Amino acid sequence: MKFSQERQLDKGQNMRLKGKIAIVTGAGQGIGRGIAEVFAHEGADVVINDLTADSRTDEVANNIRNKGRRAIVVPGDVSRRSDVERVFDTAWAELGPVDVLANNAGIETIIPFTELTDEQWEAVTTTNLKSEWMCSQAFCRRLIAEGRKGSIINIGSIQAARVLPGRTHYAPSKLAIEALTRNISAEVGANGIRVNCIHPGLIDTPMIQWVLNRPDILPQVVTQISLGRPGLPAEIGSVAAFLASDEASYVTGQSLYVDGGWVGK
Ligand code: NAD
Repeated sequence: MKFSQERQLDKGQNMRLKGKIAIVTGAGQGIGRGIAEVFAHEGADVVINDLTADSRTDEVANNIRNKGRRAIVVPGDVSRRSDVERVFDTAWAELGPVDVLANNAGIETIIPFTELTDEQWEAVTTTNLKSEWMCSQAFCRRLIAEGRKGSIINIGSIQAARVLPGRTHYAPSKLAIEALTRNISAEVGANGIRVNCIHPGLIDTPMIQWVLNRPDILPQVVTQISLGRPGLPAEIGSVAAFLASDEASYVTGQSLYVDGGWVGK
């Protein structure tokens, strides 16, 4: 199946994040890369986090520098507290006080409920949910100590609202991000920190290539999507940029499905 590429980065540049510094976790590829590049397109300097510093993260950093923005790669496993602290310390030391955090890093495995082990449950829930809690805490503690405002964008999933087989660990880790978002937003709102969540639908990234390459499954999935196609990482990035920007100054505690009309159909 061929799909049109509806949203390219070159369409408009509003500089909605001019002068801001952002951290994007899991930014070496996929949605994280899309968010990092749209943020830079909108004027932000970007800290690119992923598990390793490699040719993928270098490419993202170079794309951002080519837009005239600053970019650094800070590798680290955001499911580990010590790595989280090191990533935030390095960001502050090398780029300065950070304004925006995009909690994007995540993993998905597909395992039938009756076969799921404790280790498999913990790997997914720690990477997807606990990492967003720890990164948000590290970020908010620094902002509050400095008396500065900021914005957090948490990445959830369409699976917060749709059942797919073998996801009894993944789906709860993503639905819980809604509650995490609401509860953190309530505690830090008075400090001028906004917290919102994006639930992406089917987005064309390395994570879901196995779906896009299955002619027996893909048409059945796509007919459930009102716009009739998968989304692009930049289409998540542009919504994240809006939520991160001052245009969304009265938006907090919200979870938004950016799914081409899947949940709504
Ligand atoms: P992806 O696998 O293509 O990219 C994820 C990136 O995160 C990888 O570069 C990976 O190395 C990194 N990462 C994983 N664990 C990490 C850790 N502990 N610390 C730091 N980096 C880590 O995935 P994607 O499709 O771009 O997904 C990004 C986010 O969006 C995930 O949270 C995923 O659950 C969510 N999501 C994706 C889709 C989709 O259709 N692609 C749909 C809904 C939600």
